[in-house]
Amino acid sequence: MVDLKSQYLAIKSEIDNAILNVLDSTSFINGPDVKAFQTDLEKYLDIDNVITCANGTDALQIALMALGLKPGDEVITTDFTFISTVEVISLLGLTPVLIDIDPDTFNINADLIENAMTENTKAIIPVHLFGQCSDMEKICKLATKYGLYIIEDTAQALGADYFNTNNTIKKAGTIGNIGCTSFFPSKNLGAYGDAGAIFTDDKDLAEKAASIANHGTNIKYYHDRLGVNSRLDSIQAAILRIKLKYLDRYNSARKKIADRYDDYFSDSPKIKIPHRCPFSTHIFHQYSIIMEGTDRSGLQEFLRTNGIPSMIYYPVPLHLQKAFSDINYNAGAFPVTEKICKKILSLPMHPDLDNEQLEYIAENIIDYLNKS
Ligand SMILES: *Cc1c(COP(=O)(O)O)cnc(C)c1O
Repeated sequence: MVDLKSQYLAIKSEIDNAILNVLDSTSFINGPDVKAFQTDLEKYLDIDNVITCANGTDALQIALMALGLKPGDEVITTDFTFISTVEVISLLGLTPVLIDIDPDTFNINADLIENAMTENTKAIIPVHLFGQCSDMEKICKLATKYGLYIIEDTAQALGADYFNTNNTIKKAGTIGNIGCTSFFPSKNLGAYGDAGAIFTDDKDLAEKAASIANHGTNIKYYHDRLGVNSRLDSIQAAILRIKLKYLDRYNSARKKIADRYDDYFSDSPKIKIPHRCPFSTHIFHQYSIIMEGTDRSGLQEFLRTNGIPSMIYYPVPLHLQKAFSDINYNAGAFPVTEKICKKILSLPMHPDLDNEQLEYIAENIIDYLNKS
């Protein structure tokens, strides 16, 4: 699904040097590379404050803590995302309120949010799934109208552009009050281990988040609040500084590969290719197709025997996960998510996928569909 080895080999000497420099400095936690990476990412995103942390899940948790949300507060988010987004809401004693998705983009259906709000609703977490932004203009309007915070889960969309109707462009994650991302190795900007970050233009929020990420400290051994231990290793920061320079190149390579997949599949009545929104670029963290009237597991098995991996992101909607059985949603509560979970399939997608590999993948899929 990804080829981290080719990506590493292409920039090996730069990466190796950066790691050796950290080893030489022995400044393993919060060394100069961490500060420098934060500054680099602030420039890239055009935002005032980036706070790095240990992973994307922590970024979401720290964001919710920094906003001062209290047990009983309700947080609205999508039913179709990686578990982290909802896990941290529950872990903090907040109440997740799930929303069905848009059938084309797989992102939260912004038209359903207002109906799910109560007087306890405090925040909305849109997730920019697979590399394309949620409908932020609609979400921002609701947040302004009802005084809600917006926390963007940008783990799959770092580098995507959002186009406002007033012609301004913003990077995904810099539109709401606070943005969160993950640098898990397979993300579009991946470290060589766990890593994450929070971004915000709000100075007060940034200071709180930085303090929470480091045991609630501002001055060493003076603890102003309860926090967590979620710091970024200097080695990961040094690697991320180098890979950030290539992020736009990686993302445009993904877009070109997606276009080529589209060319193969757009005529097939059995495949629905990914939808592109007018208000966002799509940086294809995943290339996910909807299989219409095809035996998905049969296709997966056929691909597997031909050496082609494929994945189902995600097989079970969050409201039907055992871990969330206490939230009390029934089967049928979110029909679009339930349907998409049964039909979606993600194909190999990474910047180093070459023409020959892509042709082999696409032709095998078309072969199977013609036979089935
Ligand atoms: C990867 C991911 C996360 C979690 O990031 P980690 O670094 O693995 O903790 C959160 N949300 C989404 C949508 C993700 O894809």
